[in-house]
Amino acid sequence: MKVSRLELVLVSTPIGCLGSGRGGGVELTICSLIKGLLDLGHKLVVLAPEGSILPPDCSGAEIKHVTGIDQPSWQHRPESAPMIIPPDGVLLGLWEQALGLGKSSDAVINFSYDWLPIWLTPWVEAELFHLISMGGVSQMMKSLIGELSRSAPSRLAFHTYRQASDYDLSKTPVVVGNGFVLDNYEFQPQGGGPLGWAGRVAPEKGLEDAVAVAAALGDRLMVWGVMEDINYAKKIESAFPPGTIDWRGFLSTAELQKELGTCRALLNTPKWNEAYGNVVVEAMACGVPVVAYDRGGPGELVESGITGWLVPPDDIDAMTNATSLVNEIDRNECRNWVEESASHDGFAKRVEAWIQKGIKIKNASNL
Ligand code: UDP
Repeated sequence: MKVSRLELVLVSTPIGCLGSGRGGGVELTICSLIKGLLDLGHKLVVLAPEGSILPPDCSGAEIKHVTGIDQPSWQHRPESAPMIIPPDGVLLGLWEQALGLGKSSDAVINFSYDWLPIWLTPWVEAELFHLISMGGVSQMMKSLIGELSRSAPSRLAFHTYRQASDYDLSKTPVVVGNGFVLDNYEFQPQGGGPLGWAGRVAPEKGLEDAVAVAAALGDRLMVWGVMEDINYAKKIESAFPPGTIDWRGFLSTAELQKELGTCRALLNTPKWNEAYGNVVVEAMACGVPVVAYDRGGPGELVESGITGWLVPPDDIDAMTNATSLVNEIDRNECRNWVEESASHDGFAKRVEAWIQKGIKIKNASNL
């Protein structure tokens, strides 16, 4: 079937500007989707906080910057916390613009994990679609997503089934996975290097467990990512032998993949229902096997015994044993999995199909 050219508005996360790393995996997800949708011939306007930068391969999209302060992240607030919007919050500015532009566009795709855009969905002229980027970390979000799933299920998509299982959905969820621009990741066939860990340095990411594994094996653990919680980082550092952690900072994708690709294995230790786990796939794109807790997205991405090992959540001994067996994994299998299951063009086609179907359902209901 020939797909017509869509005019789409993409609304970025209201936490951090694109390129800062403060928005987490959503930043990379938006950029690879922009590239994929542009390659498919669609017209895109991206709304993002002031300071956001798109990579050169996304230059075909128009970016509009919005000023305002960050939205507080749901994942660092109590589960029963109410919705808060700071008076000069960037979330309001993003959605004022999105609703205006959305009137003359085919669809608006929301990447923020926030109450306001989801609540707006049935009440506005613009056609709003939501790619949910987190598991169910807030009661308010869970109940609102459940409600939308009952009134307009076609407006929701998720990254993994594990993530979607946090929500009370009326139908089998639309799962679009994620996508990566594979040319940006060099396959490194040799795996003799140290262990690696990547992600925001924050309690829900469980860095301490990965450091414990490295310490048990007498290894060095290279750590990349935004330092979100410095006290948490200091506490971990003081609990293990000096030199176990090799802090590498937050690197660009080009620099990150160069270092990550030298690793023997990536350890992934989520303490929450991780929606997807970009770093898991980025490691595999470089040929690095992943040893992960069988929890959330990573439990759906790693094929145990083929692209790495899955171990019971929070079981440091099991992770230590599995890590010592990582030489049994063929690094080619890791890269192959990403090429087949998580390329940026496959991701863009799945998102395109989701939006096209949603628009068709809307048009049919208006007849
Ligand atoms: N990342 C990066 N540079 C670094 C470390 C991490 O660009 O030095 C990016 C990585 O590419 C990934 C994101 O940070 O896209 C982390 O996303 P993930 O889905 O793993 O976790 P989230 O932060 O969304 O919970």
